[in-house]
Amino acid sequence: MYETVKRWYDNKEEQRIKSLHRYAYYLRCQNLSGILKISVFTPWMVQQGTMDPAFDIFLNVDGDEYITRYCMNGQEKWSKALIYNLQNVGHFEDLSGKEHYSVNYWYQYNSVCDKLAWINPEGLKQLRRTLKQSGNAFEIIQKWQEQVKTKKRDEADAKVFKPWDDDLKLVPELPKRFINWAFKENTEHYIFYDAGSKKGFCSRCQKEVTLVNPKHRKDGICPSCKHNIVYLANGKKSKYLRTPVAESQIVQPIKEGYVIQILETQRDYAFTGYTFDPNIPITKPNLRYDVKYKIIVRNNGTVAAYTQGIYKNRLYRWIPDSWYRDRYMTGGRIWHGNIKEIEARFPHSAAPILLRKELNMSFSRYVDFEKKYPVMESLMKIGLYDIVKDLIRSTGRESLKNKEAAKALELDKNRLKRLIELGGSINTWNWLQVEKKSDTVFETDMLRYFDKNKINYYDLQHLPKISLTKIWHYLVKQEQVTGETASQLVTTWRDYLAMAEKNKLNTSLEYVYKPADLKKAHAEQIELSNRENVKKEAATIRRKFKKAEKNLKEIAKYEYHSDKYAIIPPRDIEDIVLEGTVLKHCIHRCDFYFERINTKESFILFLRKESSLKTPWYTLEVEPGGNIRQKRTTGDNQNPDLNAALPFLKKWQEHIKKIMNEEDRKLAGIADKKRQANYRDIRANKKIVWHGKHQGELLADVLEADFMAAI
Ligand SMILES: [Zn+2]
Repeated sequence: MYETVKRWYDNKEEQRIKSLHRYAYYLRCQNLSGILKISVFTPWMVQQGTMDPAFDIFLNVDGDEYITRYCMNGQEKWSKALIYNLQNVGHFEDLSGKEHYSVNYWYQYNSVCDKLAWINPEGLKQLRRTLKQSGNAFEIIQKWQEQVKTKKRDEADAKVFKPWDDDLKLVPELPKRFINWAFKENTEHYIFYDAGSKKGFCSRCQKEVTLVNPKHRKDGICPSCKHNIVYLANGKKSKYLRTPVAESQIVQPIKEGYVIQILETQRDYAFTGYTFDPNIPITKPNLRYDVKYKIIVRNNGTVAAYTQGIYKNRLYRWIPDSWYRDRYMTGGRIWHGNIKEIEARFPHSAAPILLRKELNMSFSRYVDFEKKYPVMESLMKIGLYDIVKDLIRSTGRESLKNKEAAKALELDKNRLKRLIELGGSINTWNWLQVEKKSDTVFETDMLRYFDKNKINYYDLQHLPKISLTKIWHYLVKQEQVTGETASQLVTTWRDYLAMAEKNKLNTSLEYVYKPADLKKAHAEQIELSNRENVKKEAATIRRKFKKAEKNLKEIAKYEYHSDKYAIIPPRDIEDIVLEGTVLKHCIHRCDFYFERINTKESFILFLRKESSLKTPWYTLEVEPGGNIRQKRTTGDNQNPDLNAALPFLKKWQEHIKKIMNEEDRKLAGIADKKRQANYRDIRANKKIVWHGKHQGELLADVLEADFMAAI
């Protein structure tokens, strides 16, 4: 009887607990005079009959607020988290008595329960009515909290965005004419042509034009519209053809000051706007443009620059740009379509010239600079744009405080006149400053030559201490002799002199400091420099391996010639080092080759072409019996050209067999054993090749593959 009752009771309890655990949470809703309090219990708490909930969620419906109270380690805590993010909800035991901590987050409930939350019908009704949301109790609370959160965030955002958007409201629309100009004048243009055809199509003037020797991807000038273009062969051009992004600037006066906008333009060919389509003709490119920067310069001089970017990782919009100063320097050519407006707005300034000349200069920085240094206006008016551009990039020099242009540029009136006549480049300006300081007069043609070849005063500092005129004449002559450009020659000359000095040449002699052929003299010095090193290296090796050089004399008999190839034994260590230096392989840097020569284990021989016996080609490591251990050319490699010489090497090996004497045979036997021991050794140590074509391979494999036995 007792057993039956107990079983019935247990069963009943089991059922109760089972049904209790169908829900992950139990909610109780109370209205505390306007504030909803939702208490959250876990099934375990309900099972235990505990009165303290896991959470109390308070919702201030009218005040758009919510907060959650919970208990952790006996301490009361408060959280502003959404219901969805409430953590460490609690633990409970399942029917087997096993404890669960798994429901750390609400969304994990379905791993243990059928349903998320239970609430009584009145409670649910109250939630729905008060929070004006649909769904189950959990969803209602979540939706309402999210709504409140979004509203708060939007309110905070609005406060931040207000001054930005107020600024941006000042930015005028872009005139369509400006956009057209940006595409037509500043975005790269092409002449498309079929290879072999004399006709092409210009993307700028949209005309068919006659071509003379076009070269794919090379710059040219359209014979019709005279604009710079790039030739593109229809057969060779990329399927994904798009121009580089081009920048153009517009300056627009506003009541509060003025606005600069920087527009980016790009043309895509055979592009639908989504995908590339070869059926779209080149006459119908897809035009893309975007305003990259909006810069508002107020009358008081403050600058606010905006660009499109991501705000707090969630909103793509116009945001202030902290890097604007870079952008503020240039931004492409400035449109002159609104020149009248600008002239009216800047009546006593040279700023409108930036538009008139469509210069690629920062308008705002120029205006600032001119305010600080009024002489800039004169410099602009006499056309020294490059110099002005250079000046406004710097912080401004002391001399610019002068009102007179000549003084500001540290020149005098005559020299300023010459500067303008000579084209007004920064280079010429610097040369004229040097001229003034050294109280001399440079020939105009020389200044033109230096300007054309972009040679400045400092480039010539390490050249011989002779007159500039002599330097100039020498460079002109060497251009003809060597075929190099003047600026290349300046570098070559400098290098040559440095090497000549090191090689102890008398550089005060004219034929030394002004060699007849600079390029040839330069090459000779390179060789000489190496020869010095070669001698030094050879001396070191000689000291270390005392018998090596004597042993090399004994292999003179290994010399062998065919009509095409030759085996040349080195006369001394210097020959080996020179070979290694020229071929840039490691042989002369590795002691063990000389150690082997020292002990007659192996020798170094040169494989050369009979047609040029003095030019290093392949270096061989050879055993006294003719076994060839290694064959190496430039950079430790073997090239296909070696294959043709292999039969010659075989013939040479046969020849060696015939001329070997008793001692050679003995040495050959020892070398053979040593080689095999060495292979075993490096294989056991897993030695790897460090450079050349076989880099990363097992050294033993490479060596064995290269080995050529004399049969
Ligand atoms: Zn054209």
